[in-house]
Amino acid sequence: MSRQLYEFPGGLKFETFKEITATIPAIQHPLPNRIILPVRQHIGIPSVPTVRKGEHVLKGQPIAEADGYVSIPLHASTSGTVIDIGDYPVPHAGEHEATCIVIEPDGKDEWFDIQPTDDYLTVDPKQLQEIIRSCGITGLGGAGFPAHVKLNEGVVNIVDTLIINGVECEPFITCDDRLIQEKAHYVVSGTRMIRHAVQAKHCVIAVEDDMPKAYEALANWIDDDIELIKVPKRYPAGGEKQLIQTLTGKEVPSGGLAIHIGIVMHNVATAAAVYRAVTRGEPLISRYVTIAGEVETPRNLQVLLGTSVNDCLKACGYEHNDEHMIILGGPMMGMHIRNPDIPIIKTTNCILVKKLEPAATELPCIQCGDCYNACPIKLMPQELYRNAKTDNFAETQQYHIFDCIECGCCSYVCPSNIPLVQYFRYAKSQIAAEERRRDGADLARKRFLEHNKREQAKIEAKRPSRPVIETSSNPSMDEKRNYIEGAVSRTLKKRSKTKKILDKRNSD
Ligand code: SF4
Ligand code: SF4
Repeated sequence: MSRQLYEFPGGLKFETFKEITATIPAIQHPLPNRIILPVRQHIGIPSVPTVRKGEHVLKGQPIAEADGYVSIPLHASTSGTVIDIGDYPVPHAGEHEATCIVIEPDGKDEWFDIQPTDDYLTVDPKQLQEIIRSCGITGLGGAGFPAHVKLNEGVVNIVDTLIINGVECEPFITCDDRLIQEKAHYVVSGTRMIRHAVQAKHCVIAVEDDMPKAYEALANWIDDDIELIKVPKRYPAGGEKQLIQTLTGKEVPSGGLAIHIGIVMHNVATAAAVYRAVTRGEPLISRYVTIAGEVETPRNLQVLLGTSVNDCLKACGYEHNDEHMIILGGPMMGMHIRNPDIPIIKTTNCILVKKLEPAATELPCIQCGDCYNACPIKLMPQELYRNAKTDNFAETQQYHIFDCIECGCCSYVCPSNIPLVQYFRYAKSQIAAEERRRDGADLARKRFLEHNKREQAKIEAKRPSRPVIETSSNPSMDEKRNYIEGAVSRTLKKRSKTKKILDKRNSD
């Protein structure tokens, strides 16, 4: 029985420019002269270097350890010498440097001692998650969320459906398409492993209907345990919320997660990485990257993490110049980078070279509503824009700015050329900065009050204790009278003394 599919609101249909790179086999990029590995290639806390400058490392050797639950270890992508640990430019929307481990390859590409897991079905799901965590696997679909955190949903919640997402909806990007065509059995076997890890009742692999070769390749490896579904080509059909809606008709609640409706989603490349981690003990040290646009030979490359963007472009016959711009990711959600020496990291799926064109003049909003009609979340982009532009951030939250997936559909259709997504990113970053400031101020106030409490306790401890007047637990009438008379007499004496002092002062 075929699965009923549903429509998500908004979205766009456009030319995708995928024919060339989707049909040419990917090639292995040669070993670069230098590998630069940022310690943060995932959402969460950066990992902490465990190697020293001058140390020799092997391919697949852990070189940085996780720092907390939402963090993962990092591994050397080839053998060689650690020549530096310091700040280097990293993939980021602005110019940005962060801690990196730099390796000079020795050319031997010699492996560290890695251990396979024999029969994953006999392994406890929790242990399977640990294998995946220790191999440094993040979601490879773009967000870079540590995979073990999402897998843990299967331990703490009931997972109805596991969805493996092969819907590569953004123009130019074909790295998942090529990976499926070339390594379909990795994807299908990895899917079964993830299913075991989350104990999902149902399992679906979805691809777009313009990926016929990928569909065929998967169909050769699939049995009745997995549904293979083609979804209609439309942007952003591969977004998590949109794909869930297409496949199940269910909506992830505003501010909620897929697991709140019993669903866990992983990308096809993540499934392939899980397969390698479990069957070989191989950590995540390479990935498929699409090189597209104004390059001589657009294609997919299998790249070691830490290879520079420039090396990848040169491998496709392109020398960077001022007439072009480089985008990491696709034209809709990618980021424009200025420094081509930055490294390929776990979340880099595409390098797109485009001709530099003068920016279109931004005109006033004419309230046409096109952005609203294009929004797949049914937000009100014109209202978000109006409030973001005037720094009215509280109001942007009323309009659910954090539900915006930054798909760019609204900017794409806007006849006034308003770069709406840029305004939304700005508003989100300002709200996040304000929350960080508030959290910092709360923490400082809490620490101040605790400090005061400790100081007060020290003063109390030093203060001499008051004399205790001994009385029996059940005093007689005489004892009570004596006690009261004594107190009255002491008070009278004090008063008379005070009076004398005052009289003397007045007479002076
Ligand atoms: S599409 Fe542009 S001009 Fe039209 S309502 Fe939205 S922001 Fe305004
Ligand atoms: S970028 Fe945000 S507001 Fe614009 S269409 Fe996409 S989800 Fe809607």
